[in-house]
Amino acid sequence: ELAAWQRPLRAQFPIIAGNPELAYLDSAATAQKPEAVLDAVRAYLTTANANAARGAYPWANATTDLVERVRERVKAFLGDPAPAASAVHFTGGTTEGLRTVARDWLTGHLRDGDEIVVPFADHRANLDPWLEARDLLARQGVRIAVRELPYQDSSGDYDYAALAAAVGPRTRFVAATHVHHVYGVDMNIDRLRRAVGPEPVICLDAAQSVGHLPVDVAALDVDFVAFSGHKALALPGTGAVWARQARGAPFTPGGWSGTPNTAGIASLEAALDWLEDAGPDRVRRWCTALTARLTDALRALDSYEVLGCRLSLAADSAVQHRVGLVAFRHRAISSGDLGFILFSRGFMVRTDSHCQAGAAESDGSVRVSVHVYNTVEEIDALAAALAELD
Ligand code: PMP
Repeated sequence: ELAAWQRPLRAQFPIIAGNPELAYLDSAATAQKPEAVLDAVRAYLTTANANAARGAYPWANATTDLVERVRERVKAFLGDPAPAASAVHFTGGTTEGLRTVARDWLTGHLRDGDEIVVPFADHRANLDPWLEARDLLARQGVRIAVRELPYQDSSGDYDYAALAAAVGPRTRFVAATHVHHVYGVDMNIDRLRRAVGPEPVICLDAAQSVGHLPVDVAALDVDFVAFSGHKALALPGTGAVWARQARGAPFTPGGWSGTPNTAGIASLEAALDWLEDAGPDRVRRWCTALTARLTDALRALDSYEVLGCRLSLAADSAVQHRVGLVAFRHRAISSGDLGFILFSRGFMVRTDSHCQAGAAESDGSVRVSVHVYNTVEEIDALAAALAELD
């Protein structure tokens, strides 16, 4: 059933359909674009290109309308139950989104003695902004404590019991990742909210979840969601931060002082429409099935070590837990060399330490990440190529 659903969708990606001898397996870095997104960009640039919130002529008005309309589109896509009480700020990607939260919200709302809890082994983009905010505050005489969001060794998920024990009355802010960019683990964010209680603000790095699975801000009960449009089928240089404004601590980003990426915003609207038509839950099931298939194949080969889920890799639940990506190493071949061998056979994968906080250069691995356009045949061909090196 899923295969019949997926086939016509794959055909809508020109770069994929035009290169049948290649397998693009690096969508966690950036995703390919369907025809509808390319068409939307062309339509915008050939009918209404102007600066937003500047002129009063029709193209300028159309552009301003576009930007405001896509803000509402992002809210709806994220299941925002109270769009009148939230804000969407467009960015170039998740990194800029998290930096904006640090600069335009966090530094203005923390007091001497407050605590924040942040992940230490997720993407650097979800650590550096918080440490920089701490240092900036310290220079202003405001000392805050940064605590590590604890992890479970068994599953790669956060350790919610340890977190609950670590949260205190001065815990104001928790930064978390929705889907881990090396382990592919879909973190239990509703448990995270239950662990920290209703008070602390939660900021979610949703770079690997928006576009791959349904993200529902009401169910997750989070305050900020930063994501990359370009990983969700929109143009490079796109992204957004969604912010719930209901806590008496409004988020007022710099905003209209520069020229927004209006063609990118048009592409984001088309991408979210496309994903919603495709069905985010089916996209999740497809990506999860491909990842599980590759993970199973790797587990049957002696030469490979799958990263993350160290202790419970034997448990199928942990495998099902991965959404869209899996990283692994060969015991004898360096990840760079393995990547080179794979490229020579048409597989495009990522081979480095994936900007993981705390990871050294030597911690490199091969990361395979998929999106709706990837196929079982591609995964099986990759598994066969890996088996030849076993
Ligand atoms: N966070 C995570 C979890 C990511 O996977 C990425 C992209 N690799 C980022 C942040 C950064 O996203 P961007 O490059 O769009 O800023």
